[in-house]
Amino acid sequence: MISYQVQAFSQPLQAIEHAAPEPQGDECLLNVVAAGVCHTDIHTWHGWYDLGNGNRLSMQERGINLPLTLGHEIVGQVIKAPIGSRLQAGRNYLVYPWIGCGQCKTCRRGDDQLCPTPRFLGIFRPGGYADHVLVPHEKYLIDIGNLPPAQAAPYACSGLTTFSAIRKINPRVLHEETIVVVGAGGLGLMAVSLLKALGAPRIIVLETHPERRQAAEHAGAFQALDPARPDLADAVRTLAGGGVWAVIDCVGSDQTVQQALDLLIKGGQLILVGLFGGAITLPVPLAPIRAISLQGSYVGRLDELQALMDLVKSGAVAPIPVTCCPLHHAPRALKNLEDGNVTGRTVLQP
Ligand SMILES: [Zn+2]
Ligand SMILES: [Zn+2]
Repeated sequence: MISYQVQAFSQPLQAIEHAAPEPQGDECLLNVVAAGVCHTDIHTWHGWYDLGNGNRLSMQERGINLPLTLGHEIVGQVIKAPIGSRLQAGRNYLVYPWIGCGQCKTCRRGDDQLCPTPRFLGIFRPGGYADHVLVPHEKYLIDIGNLPPAQAAPYACSGLTTFSAIRKINPRVLHEETIVVVGAGGLGLMAVSLLKALGAPRIIVLETHPERRQAAEHAGAFQALDPARPDLADAVRTLAGGGVWAVIDCVGSDQTVQQALDLLIKGGQLILVGLFGGAITLPVPLAPIRAISLQGSYVGRLDELQALMDLVKSGAVAPIPVTCCPLHHAPRALKNLEDGNVTGRTVLQP
């Protein structure tokens, strides 16, 4: 098999030929048919997150070991599975990659994505920038029916992340109020698409890039505004009929978080999913006085991905733009994403 690996942080991915792993116990071996290229892959490739004020969160200290095959948005076909498996040859399955130890209390509550000893594919275990991938158990595989694999792959990360973030919004707020989405990259466009599918009446997107603003409006945003405009806060409040009840920040820089907090009405909530980096200062008394909440949300649960895929398979979710390229473009695809040259999602197809 061939995989595209990080052999040294920040160095171009290397194509490595090696024997495919032999599945043991409950493990399943899949042929990869689609693997999305995600912003998280850029952080993992470089080996750190920006914590602001010159501080970094090191991937190595988080337990990430090299060499590593990136890729956590994977669709594949099963080639080896345990005897008695329900999986069918020739069908396409979306992989839930946020796999925990399976033993701890967190995992037993279904919060694998929060497990202190994670086995996330493409981060702690070999991922989908390869022609084969090993999955620990068939329960992590979701049949995608007739969906095109390249369309389905990003739901494992950008889809699940935004779906789980949206589920943290009070359902009445979701159905009655204007929701603000910060950023219209892969995550932001997915957020708009899912908010529409889940019945949000009006979505405003904040995005610096004109082409992405257009994509956001095309995806169903009521308006996409440039966050740099001087009257932004007034413009958003006018469109929202006052302050904003819920903001989903898909960028996660100090500027976007600060701006989002300033937009909130009393009782409003900011759900933070973007990992761009930075640090903010928060005047503490304002949090209780304004009764605002700031909640981080990291990917999502297996049952959330199952619910999301039921929604997608029902046809309720408008697809986001996807660009396909062959697997050997992996190093270039990662660089293009880092340089900001991607609208929607790039998906590698071995
Ligand atoms: Zn666990
Ligand atoms: Zn991702």
